[in-house]
Amino acid sequence: MKGWKLIDAMTLKESELTEPEETNTSSKVRITKALVTLSDVLRFRGDIDAEKIALGSSGIGIVSETQANLFGLEKGKHVYIEPVRECGECYNCKNGDYEKCQNFLVAGEDYDGFLCDFMTVPNDKLFVLPASVSDFEALFIDHIALAISVIDKLNVQKGDYVTILGANNFGNILAQLLIYYQAVPIVLTQDEEQYKIARDSGIYYVLGQNDNWQKEVASITSGRMTDKVVFIYDSDIPIVKAFSLAAFNAAVAITGVTSGSISISFTQAIKKQLDIHCINNGFGNAAAGINLIANKAINLSHLKLDSASYESVPEKLKNLSEEYKKEGRIYETVVDLI
Ligand SMILES: [Zn+2]
Repeated sequence: MKGWKLIDAMTLKESELTEPEETNTSSKVRITKALVTLSDVLRFRGDIDAEKIALGSSGIGIVSETQANLFGLEKGKHVYIEPVRECGECYNCKNGDYEKCQNFLVAGEDYDGFLCDFMTVPNDKLFVLPASVSDFEALFIDHIALAISVIDKLNVQKGDYVTILGANNFGNILAQLLIYYQAVPIVLTQDEEQYKIARDSGIYYVLGQNDNWQKEVASITSGRMTDKVVFIYDSDIPIVKAFSLAAFNAAVAITGVTSGSISISFTQAIKKQLDIHCINNGFGNAAAGINLIANKAINLSHLKLDSASYESVPEKLKNLSEEYKKEGRIYETVVDLI
């Protein structure tokens, strides 16, 4: 097994990866496509402390070796690989509360990510993809799973208004999912292109950089503001905006696909007695995510993405890093591995 390992800031090297012992509860998967997200780029740049491991946040592949005979898992099947794993060692894991693991392990952050040829994966992290889900769509299951976690945590109900600050791919997917559940997202973005993509994706309330957000959200909600607010920390919007747009005692979710550090003043949050939730993975929601794609709940065709081949990964990451420095955002990149 080999892959693009981060050996230093701004430096990748194709290296042999440590092969986990094969057991009858794991399968070997040939990785066919991977998604490079901002999380990978920030690690590559050295902006986030990073392990010396292969990068790659999401991925799919084809089963090449398995002893399993369950849920249709067999050689040659297309599979989505859940990137978040429970540690198995903390107090909650030992009590079977895996969804409350205190030390989740994430692909590309804590163990070798998907920019590699093969991966040995525990069978319970493999999900056979139905024919109605394309490889491209499957790369976004992780985003959808995170969006489900956010919606659950905020206990969003039919008819609820939800303010979303940030309209990157994840923000767009979250807004579409809210519409599917008959809630009303109000999406805010400072980025012109993301504004247009959000409108093209069928999101009705989208406010751009020239709009007065406070006034517009007040007008949409008849002055109440929203009881549910999502702040996406991969966006370049200051978090104080999320607090100022929230109603008194609103629930605010702080979420996103990276775990970069941001500084926060809680003055307004305390004044308004906000209920703050931090959500950073979609653990346990993979099957639900696959179902939502199969049911055409989300249209991914408007998302703007970049692409790369396996060979061009080091150069592509350098370009993405430049792009981030210049624009403060990147286009998530689909890497073809075969
Ligand atoms: Zn644990």
